[in-house]
Amino acid sequence: MDLAALFGPEGALARARSGYEPRPPQEAMAGAVWQSLERGGDLVVEAGTGVGKSLAYLLPAALWAATRDRRVIVSTHTRALQEQLLNHELPTAAKALEALGLPLRYAMLMGADNYLCVQRLARLRARPDTVSETGKELLDRLDTWTRDAQTGHRSNLPELIPQNLWDRIARDTDVCMGPGGPYWDRCLWRRDRERADRAHILVVNHALLLSGARLPPSDAMILDEAHNLEDAASARYGVAAGLGRAVVLTEEVRVAAKLYADESLSALADEAASGLGRFLEDLARGSGLNAPDEENQGKLLESTPDAPPPELLALDKALAEAAAAAEGRPDETEMRMLHARVAQFGHDLMAVLKPDSSATARWVAWPRTGPELRAAPLDVGRRLAEGLFSRGIPAILTSATLSTGDGLKDFKSRVGLPEARELVLDSPYDYSTQAAFWAVEGIPDPKDEEAHAAAVTQMCADIVARVPGGVFLLFSSWKLLKRVHGLLRKKIAGRPVWAQGVSGHEALVREFEDAGDAVLLGVDTFWQGIDVPGEALSCVVLVKLPFPNVSSALEEARRRWLEENGRDYFKDWSLPRAVMKFRQGFGRLIRTGTDRGAVVCLDSRVLKKGYGKTFLRSLPPCKKLNGLDDLEAFFKADAGA
Ligand code: SF4
Repeated sequence: MDLAALFGPEGALARARSGYEPRPPQEAMAGAVWQSLERGGDLVVEAGTGVGKSLAYLLPAALWAATRDRRVIVSTHTRALQEQLLNHELPTAAKALEALGLPLRYAMLMGADNYLCVQRLARLRARPDTVSETGKELLDRLDTWTRDAQTGHRSNLPELIPQNLWDRIARDTDVCMGPGGPYWDRCLWRRDRERADRAHILVVNHALLLSGARLPPSDAMILDEAHNLEDAASARYGVAAGLGRAVVLTEEVRVAAKLYADESLSALADEAASGLGRFLEDLARGSGLNAPDEENQGKLLESTPDAPPPELLALDKALAEAAAAAEGRPDETEMRMLHARVAQFGHDLMAVLKPDSSATARWVAWPRTGPELRAAPLDVGRRLAEGLFSRGIPAILTSATLSTGDGLKDFKSRVGLPEARELVLDSPYDYSTQAAFWAVEGIPDPKDEEAHAAAVTQMCADIVARVPGGVFLLFSSWKLLKRVHGLLRKKIAGRPVWAQGVSGHEALVREFEDAGDAVLLGVDTFWQGIDVPGEALSCVVLVKLPFPNVSSALEEARRRWLEENGRDYFKDWSLPRAVMKFRQGFGRLIRTGTDRGAVVCLDSRVLKKGYGKTFLRSLPPCKKLNGLDDLEAFFKADAGA
């Protein structure tokens, strides 16, 4: 690959994107990606903010696929990045390749339930008695629209479909009949699938990639936002079977029973719902969980029965018989679907009660919908190595934050790619002039919840008073976030003080950006899901070092499992994970070459504890601050610059 022809000042990318400036790290990453694609071998790249990593992998991948007639799967964790790739980066890559005389085809595929199923739509319209008047009109309009539509993706539908209706017309792999079905000619998902089959670059998400769904064959895979791969794999390879799902399922059986005048089925559904309710509640209480658990930490399941409740088995059997008896009748598909769902529920329940591997965490949670049994693999790396990475095609993993104190070695072994080549590319931004860091001393120990919340609130209010632009407060616990939010709103006047959850994630971030001087409190996804350039995000406050929550059942299972295998939970798992998340939180601050701002850490363990140095060493060199006056002076210097 002639890198200069693509990335040089006169190259194809410069012609495709106005304002483009060559960046040596971007070229270096593109070269490494090209080498992996051409010669094979896995690659892990940490590319700091501003490297331009999307085009650094998309351009070589596009060039490789278009010239060698290959297909590359590009997987992301978030919808936002998928859209960014499809709406901005891939059109740029296509334009750049066009300048070289190469057409580029790209497409996106998502999970089944993102697509309208024409067959289910037709079947539902044939049973108007089960749909409201407005629902019927909506279905009629949708049916007309499907006649000329080129995609069945939900985001392209002409109007919003309520979730309860969507659940009845979305593609369902349990009942999808594929080319053998009567609606194949009109199937819209088929069109999306055919585009994917022709694409050089196919964009998917980690959940779909890991799901085992049949994707078009590919010759290489690139996983962006790879820092989320373990969590995505844990969720994908894990199972949950709880009362909320059982209630929905048995309600569907009751509706079908009413429609087809089968009262015995309805009675069995009632019995299954109450039997499961008792079964799950007994297990929850036996494990020490007696009520809904706001922080969703759950309790480990120490011992469990080795069979589901008999009422569930009775319902499963009756549905199997009803489906067999319905053969050739209009209700056959629905009966088969219902039976498949109830059978899957029983299968998931058994996967928790009797897991097939000892490296499985099993716990009971109690969300608002009722007790729920959950299981997740603890050896995600092995599962990934044996599943996703055993296909014999190059895998390229990238993110802005993957390394910990140990470079990329730890990450590579955790995701099952210990032998992958590695490349770390620093951000081209000048953190020594653009960023400042202050580690605050004297905030009381979080064990004294009252004093800790009061001190955090006061310090946050003081910080906000000294920072002219937007301030982002990152928490590790919902409980503390809510408490501080309540207190902080009374202390800050004249500036919006918002908390995650008041409106949709993206809408909230845009409001925060538009306000310019707002205060936003967030947890979890906000450590990595915010991209606000400029003064609208001038200061990031990290309230606590983001260690995994040791009181959660999953972490307790992980600790036990690691220790049983001779490993150290803190050193081998908790600390590296916390450092990676800490770097992600820090990374929210500087998003462009002209951004300037400060990160404040309110957890004094970063100064007092030996492991604090691992956190501090993981940050880029930046100006050190020592107090509120320093913080104010830093921003005043900015204003005077
Ligand atoms: S093949 Fe048939 S059942 Fe499957 S999504 Fe298409 S229309 Fe629906």
